[in-house]
Amino acid sequence: MSTAIAVINAGSSSVKFSVFVESGADLRLQVRGQIEGLFTAPHFVARGADDTVVGEKSWGEGQRLGHDGALDFLIEFLRQRSGGATLAGVGHRVVHGGMEYAQPVRVDARVLGALEKYVPLAPLHQPHNLAPIRRLLERSPDLPQVACFDTAFHRSNAELVQMFGLPYAMFEQGVRRYGFHGLSYEYVASVLPQHSPRAATGRTIVLHLGNGASMCAMQGCRSVASSMGFTAVEGLMMGTRTGSLDPGVVLYLMDQRGMDARAIEKLLYHQSGLLGISGISSDMRTLLESREPRASLAIDLYCYRIRRELGSLAAVLGGLDALVFTAGIGENSAAIRARVLDDAAWLGVERDAAANDAGGPRLTRPTSRVLGLALPTNEELMIATHTRNVIRAR
Ligand code: ADP
Repeated sequence: MSTAIAVINAGSSSVKFSVFVESGADLRLQVRGQIEGLFTAPHFVARGADDTVVGEKSWGEGQRLGHDGALDFLIEFLRQRSGGATLAGVGHRVVHGGMEYAQPVRVDARVLGALEKYVPLAPLHQPHNLAPIRRLLERSPDLPQVACFDTAFHRSNAELVQMFGLPYAMFEQGVRRYGFHGLSYEYVASVLPQHSPRAATGRTIVLHLGNGASMCAMQGCRSVASSMGFTAVEGLMMGTRTGSLDPGVVLYLMDQRGMDARAIEKLLYHQSGLLGISGISSDMRTLLESREPRASLAIDLYCYRIRRELGSLAAVLGGLDALVFTAGIGENSAAIRARVLDDAAWLGVERDAAANDAGGPRLTRPTSRVLGLALPTNEELMIATHTRNVIRAR
């Protein structure tokens, strides 16, 4: 009988899932989907590997399914659709593994308790990531569950890289740069050797440009530094997040505008970035199609912030061998890639216009000193792979 691994990625208002079946040494996607609007108007859709809809349900306006209800529904859906495969385990995306977790971990009640301690470090994500784990521990205590962390890949960063210029005691207490999008970077690192031995062994900067956006400097496929810090709001400007901001602005908003922590959080995470500048949308496609001056201003700032951060990470690496684009914007937008590649000409990047327009994977000319690549990320497959490996290792 074949075995299956389910992957759960639970956010504040949605639960995304996918199921992989073991096929020899590989894991093959069988079904994926999501339940959105958990507290408003829940809607479920599932698609097969060929993208055809294999399940759909709406609960109607004003219904509250919540995380527990969503998980119960999903487990029942997966049971009915298992096609004879046994569920060997469930892998979860968990944003924060703190200082402790540099690897995926099998979760029991003790580990769940440890992960709950990181809720204050990521209050917008961690509680939602943990909700399905808790539910499954209650429902199916014998079903192996594995937590895979967005921070883990960056635990290879040197201590110095993780430090802020705050009093040292705060560093020891965990106020440090953790870095995020680690599962995406780890996946890209895992396929890099197939595309370029030089990128895999050398100095490579990976740009994860999705709704959230960050960059990771790698040396030999290990994270050396990243643009995100204590929280996922630092670094590049994003769809609705500011990116790096003078902390003096926060003090000003508190003192002079009377804003409290919640109001500032809303501003920094949800009302800024591409949306805040353009006043139109957080969606790059919409802005690229718009003729409004503030849409192009938002794109200009987006690219300028990448240019600055790229220079900073290239300096950390002491040079650059490869530049890799991934996630929604990085994989799909030839226009944004073209601007970033041309801004990096000073580092020895020579864009190949036709190759970039065609979507890669190679984006630069054969003569280019720095190799440019566009590679699709696959965080779900990374989680499924980790989950299988952790279960097997026991
Ligand atoms: P998430 O971080 O939520 O996983 P994605 O990685 O899917 O998000 O990235 C979403 C972003 O990718 C959006 O800004 C969207 O506009 C952008 N995007 C997707 N396709 C394109 C495209 N063809 N051109 C430009 N931007 C695109």
